[in-house]
Amino acid sequence: MAIRQIIRMGHPTLRKIADPYPADQIGSVEFNELLTDLKDTLAASGGIGLAAPQINQSVKVAVIEISAAESRYDQSISMPFSVFINPRIEVLSKEEQGYWEGCLSVPGLRGKVYRPQHIAVHYLDQNADTQKIKLQGFLATVFQHEFDHLQGKLYLDHIKDTTQLSFEAEFLEFELDRQDLTH
Ligand code: ZN
Repeated sequence: MAIRQIIRMGHPTLRKIADPYPADQIGSVEFNELLTDLKDTLAASGGIGLAAPQINQSVKVAVIEISAAESRYDQSISMPFSVFINPRIEVLSKEEQGYWEGCLSVPGLRGKVYRPQHIAVHYLDQNADTQKIKLQGFLATVFQHEFDHLQGKLYLDHIKDTTQLSFEAEFLEFELDRQDLTH
């Protein structure tokens, strides 16, 4: 068990396309250590998602955990701790919605990002089984934000209107009615 340092914007690993995780190494000692570190680091961070590149491991593994008790999110949205290996996003509808996003690798900022709101995700789970899930709305945004990290992208790359970018303190002062996300 280890809480790892989360690297921040400017670190070159965040801009690399991560390597696919070798399916035959899922379940190995190294894999289980990576999962434990992602889980512990996410729990310590207060975020809802973490990608391996954010702890400076450039492989396509991400974890998401959304507690229904998290009062700042819609109470109806929750997801138990889940592991996504080599995920691929299929956009089911180009219809977009904007959410205010934050990122553990870009601390102190919030920005409103518009993304497709109906997606399917194809991935391997922690037992190396092939899975597919469909997601809408908030969850679709969370997954796209997380998986961007596996492609060397940050949410800031999607912001075309920089008036939709704010420091966290000012966001909280002036944008209290808006939902925020932290990954
Ligand atoms: Zn992030």
